[in-house]
Amino acid sequence: MADESTSRDPILGIDLGTTNSLVALCDERGPRVLVPAGESPLVPSVVRYIPAEDGWQVMVGDEALRSPDPARTLRSIKRLMGRSIADIDLGGLSYQIVDGPQHTARVRIPGSAGQADRIVTPQEVSAEILRFLAARAQRVLGVAARRVVITVPAYFDDAQRQATRDAGRLAGLDVVRIVNEPTAAGLAYGLGLDRSAERNRGIRTVAVYDFGGGTFDISILSIVPGPDGGSRDLFRVIATAGDTALGGDDIDHALLRWVVDQLRQKPGPEESSRLRLACIAAKHHLSTHDHAVITWQRDDGTQHAQSIALAEFDSLITPIVERTIHCCDRALADAQIELEGVAPQVVALVGGSTRIPLVRRLVAEKFALEPYSALDPDQVVALGAAVQGAVLSGSNRAALLLDVVPLSLGLETAGGGIAKIIVRNAAVPARATEMFSTQVDNQTGIHLRVFQGEREMAADCRLIADFHLRGIPPMPAGIPQVEVTFLVDANGVLNVSAIEKRSGRRAAMQVVPNHGLTREEVDQMERASVVNAKTDMHAHRIADLVVNSKLDLKWISERLAKLRQEIDPAYARELDTASGRLAEFLQQAANPAATDADAFARAKHDLDQLSVRLQEVSIAASLRAQLGQ
Ligand code: ADP
Ligand code: MG
Repeated sequence: MADESTSRDPILGIDLGTTNSLVALCDERGPRVLVPAGESPLVPSVVRYIPAEDGWQVMVGDEALRSPDPARTLRSIKRLMGRSIADIDLGGLSYQIVDGPQHTARVRIPGSAGQADRIVTPQEVSAEILRFLAARAQRVLGVAARRVVITVPAYFDDAQRQATRDAGRLAGLDVVRIVNEPTAAGLAYGLGLDRSAERNRGIRTVAVYDFGGGTFDISILSIVPGPDGGSRDLFRVIATAGDTALGGDDIDHALLRWVVDQLRQKPGPEESSRLRLACIAAKHHLSTHDHAVITWQRDDGTQHAQSIALAEFDSLITPIVERTIHCCDRALADAQIELEGVAPQVVALVGGSTRIPLVRRLVAEKFALEPYSALDPDQVVALGAAVQGAVLSGSNRAALLLDVVPLSLGLETAGGGIAKIIVRNAAVPARATEMFSTQVDNQTGIHLRVFQGEREMAADCRLIADFHLRGIPPMPAGIPQVEVTFLVDANGVLNVSAIEKRSGRRAAMQVVPNHGLTREEVDQMERASVVNAKTDMHAHRIADLVVNSKLDLKWISERLAKLRQEIDPAYARELDTASGRLAEFLQQAANPAATDADAFARAKHDLDQLSVRLQEVSIAASLRAQLGQ
């Protein structure tokens, strides 16, 4: 049941980031980012002040980014929160910082045409972002929410935390809790939500690697039983390290410099800003492709294109990523004193820059662990803040947790059926493996579509993930051996991996299957499977028969085309007739409900039996060919 008190007075989770901010809510559906239709989940943490006749106009997010006015467009305001001028690294800020009372940093925004300059505090600027996020949540939910949980970096001191609270108050919000960003990431993965001994199965130490736009943080957390005897665990931050001037911006810059080095004529400032955007787009593209083309308009009006391979990009950014790894070493060394030699058992990836494959690779190597990446790295902190909000509002925690797999997990087979791999109610952790093969000759890739649900056909289940296993060497259909493993770990994270045994090619991905489904929806899916069991089985059977019959018919017609001269004409006619009969069933199967599955299966079986001789002839022929006779 939905918790009425939460739905009426929800507590929002807010990730108030240096580069991007988000708002999320955790209700009976689990945590989700609140996004108005057609908009992006991320709100750039940018506030632009525009002098107007009757005061100042304020713009937030994408709109503020659109037309450049650097002195009045405030980015990275988080760096100023609760700091004095002396603390701040002013490099890279495009606006003017001035000294305020007690040496607090403020921003001077130039007025225009007789209008006085405006001085704003970082708290006021952050409040604009918070107000924008709260309005966004209201648009999505249809009700206003005043209570919020806001996240801050683990290293934020009291002054910085207080400044964040004040920003909330200025925005008219009730900040019920300030939560550390790495703790939020842990909560988003369900860590520390329940008695750790049972639920977290011995996970005591978690590393959170957060590589954002302008900052890098590594935190080592220890999960300790809560004071009430452990009904809820607490995260203790036992070590942090990082660099407040190391992030995706540096990667953009390295790429930009590389492009400029290849140019004969150096770009002016306008072209540079276009080029920077093109570099960012290429960087994002390279997170999922082996190659990118950076295209931009030069100052002389011509289009220019520079292509870059992933390997080149990797070598460009290696020094930057290595700096993050050195920070990890530092944090681990600090943590060792308390951990007494226990290495983190989980490393969670947070921040947009962790989408970069090289980053993932080096982090996996450093921690000797496959990092948790099932949740979107830009969203994980906001989702965790929302989970904290739900816990604080006393909503049903059980909805967030699972000890069993709530719905079966399987793969779509050719023809649209589902091969269930882990069945409903299996206890977690659960692991199962199945072998698959290709359907078409020389197929070099397999598209794996992972479904959740109890029905027999993919169309009636819920697609939760899909990915490709590529690079299988060309082989006849059915020869490659693809072993697919499903592992649901103690936190309900599904890891799917596929390996082609002959070539060793592998691919893997992670998802959190339970997110976004209510208990009622799960029950509803289960009921539907019982009601539809008979028709579903029938449809599945027909689908399998269709796929296999097509393969048989293709094989037989290919062999007949080659070998017709070598076989008894009466036998060839028999094959033609039996093939024709099966082909008729194939046509009928376009309407599965009207197809007699038993008769279809018999027709297929008859052809199978009949074609044994053809198979023998075919093998003999290919042996002769090999022996050169
Ligand atoms: P912050 O925590 O600093 O607000 P985010 O976690 O939102 O920042 O990260 C923003 C950074 O992530 C930017 O530098 C952006 O370019 C980078 N980023 C986002 N998506 C990708 C991607 N697909 N590949 C590489 N970098 C990405
Ligand atoms: Mg962040």
